[in-house]
Amino acid sequence: MNRLFAHHALLPEGWRNNVLLEWSADGTLHAARAEVEAPTGVQRAHYVLPGMVNLHSHSFQRALGGMTEAAGDTPDSFWTWRDLMYRFARQITPEQMGAIAAQLFSECLRHGYTSICEFHYVHRQPDGGMYAQPAETAQHIADAARLSGIGLTMLPVLYSYSGFGEAPLKPEQSRFRTDAQDILRIIDALSAQRGPQLEVGVAPHSLRAASVGQIREVLAALPARRPVHIHIAEQQGEVQQSLDFSRRRPVQYLYDQLPVDQRWCLVHATHLVDGEVKQIARSGAVAGLCPTTEANLGDGLFPLEAFLAEGGRIGIGSDSHVSQSPVEELRWLEYGQRLAHQRRNIAVSRSQRRVGDFLWQAALQGGAQAAGRPVGALEAGKRADLLVLDEQHPNLDGLRTDDLLGTLIFNGNDNLVKDVMVGGHWVVRNREHVAQPAIAARFRQTLAELRELRS
Ligand code: ZN
Repeated sequence: MNRLFAHHALLPEGWRNNVLLEWSADGTLHAARAEVEAPTGVQRAHYVLPGMVNLHSHSFQRALGGMTEAAGDTPDSFWTWRDLMYRFARQITPEQMGAIAAQLFSECLRHGYTSICEFHYVHRQPDGGMYAQPAETAQHIADAARLSGIGLTMLPVLYSYSGFGEAPLKPEQSRFRTDAQDILRIIDALSAQRGPQLEVGVAPHSLRAASVGQIREVLAALPARRPVHIHIAEQQGEVQQSLDFSRRRPVQYLYDQLPVDQRWCLVHATHLVDGEVKQIARSGAVAGLCPTTEANLGDGLFPLEAFLAEGGRIGIGSDSHVSQSPVEELRWLEYGQRLAHQRRNIAVSRSQRRVGDFLWQAALQGGAQAAGRPVGALEAGKRADLLVLDEQHPNLDGLRTDDLLGTLIFNGNDNLVKDVMVGGHWVVRNREHVAQPAIAARFRQTLAELRELRS
């Protein structure tokens, strides 16, 4: 049995002192016992908390960061950003996708994410043909996750149409084209590798890009309890297109047509009316919130206060990866609400009045549910995925645990994550990813190749 003694650890019930964590060789926690004596010879840490789940990622977009921040001649929007992203996605090779993903995953780990859900839609060759192995590009992402050590939920994306009513794909979307049978083949190929570090679910891209009939076909063939993620109601334009097509808003249309339950993650769900807020909350589905990307793309603000009041479940994702830090996602989630409501301390519950504690625990629970993996808590049966904070940083030195997550999330910009363990293995030590030099060298080489193509 492997062991770590934490002077302070965040357990499901809150901060506890003198906690002994024990896990087996396969990385599963066997016990997290508080108020115990430190056994002799055991490794020690000061502040320990569960690693965060990143529930929404398009890893290749990491290489686009900073490249889309200049104004065009017409007002820029999600839709003009998407044109640039499409151009980028047309050129990229599976090897480059793997190199970018490995860099991204190592950065996510250094900032405190220990699991990620990859919403993966570039499946075809640049000419639109299938690769000899249908899961070719997905496999490079899975390999990158293994190299970095991050836990992965792979979500192959069903993507058949360019708009509601089965509008044909545009040429620039030809690498994304999959039908229900393609997706089931890709899921099959990846499912052989399922294990403690890898789950495989599915992601109908959106109600724009997948028909209800196709989604039903995939769900009928997918084993029960596998995660199902979908982009929904991210943009007002999408809400209007749904109204024009179905006379219902996207969330209403989704719930009318499909059995949405706890296995579902509704990504963004930005533009909701009261009835939709209640419907999502009651169904137990997770709202997958990506505050930095939603801000970067000018999407809008999720109705967080109303959703939490209905008992809604939330998690966070970094989506386009303009940020790789859970601190920044959670900070902006709360700040967006403060700016909108002109009030403070909004993300709390009746029993948890500390914003940082509420946000970290809520995002852990929702993220774990969306990932479909046993993560998100330091307790028996869950993965030994944890963060050790730098107790010598001036912000944390001698800090009471009551103020720790408030400080982590709202005070300053230093990364306070010092060491990171995933499945019982240290993957970040003293702020460095253990495979950083090789991963970074491949990433730099990939960026150079992609710049060559652009010029
Ligand atoms: Zn997305």
